[in-house]
Amino acid sequence: MKKEYAVIGLGRFGGSICKELNREGMEVLAIDLDEDKVNEYKDIASHAVIADSTDEKVLKELGIRNIDHVIVAIGDNIQASILTTLMLKELGIMKITVKAQNDYHEKVLNKIGADQVVHPERDMGKRIAHSIISNNVLDYLELSDDHSVVEVKAGRKLIGRTLVDLDIRALYGCNVVGIKRNRDIDVSPMPTETILDGDILIIIGEDRDLSRFEKNLVDDDD
Ligand code: ATP
Repeated sequence: MKKEYAVIGLGRFGGSICKELNREGMEVLAIDLDEDKVNEYKDIASHAVIADSTDEKVLKELGIRNIDHVIVAIGDNIQASILTTLMLKELGIMKITVKAQNDYHEKVLNKIGADQVVHPERDMGKRIAHSIISNNVLDYLELSDDHSVVEVKAGRKLIGRTLVDLDIRALYGCNVVGIKRNRDIDVSPMPTETILDGDILIIIGEDRDLSRFEKNLVDDDD
């Protein structure tokens, strides 16, 4: 059976999730306090309703219990975000994703059992910072507080060398888990693989090791 989603809070973040889920052909229930926002999404979501998600009775009436995954995208009103998450948890929702406004908000959300806490502004800030430091760092994905995955464009210091020759694992403690070449991704590159111009390396590691790798082997010669 097709999974059903609900997005609570139709600001830029919630709204964009709603649009993307719709684009992927998913069933989405869109909820917001604001009538204008709800009107904006009435043709995008499967159902769009004006409701206060901090009202348990309202949540029950909306049949939120039947939804597989609820995304709480309430921003500024941290109290409403926490209360909503708590009630969704009590109602037994299988998966709850919540947007956190700051680190304290994130801590509370984790404590009350949110399954996934996202911090889009902070995470995007980190990603952009990495791409600002070097034009060759194309993407950066945080896995935990101190582990990440980075995508780097092979520059002068990498092109023509093999993974075994670079000895990245021993020297930097990081692992090259994939090489993007043209439209293909080799997800288990051979140690003898020669890095070509245009290759993009996908590397996993501890942040401090990745940072050493970026400083020493990723040049800024795009
Ligand atoms: P973004 O950055 O995603 O635009 P934001 O972080 O500025 O959003 P807000 O605009 O504060 O977030 O909130 C997002 C939406 O959540 C708003 O449209 C607001 O009306 C809605 N919202 C706030 N509280 C509730 C609530 N209790 N029930 C339903 N919707 C709510």
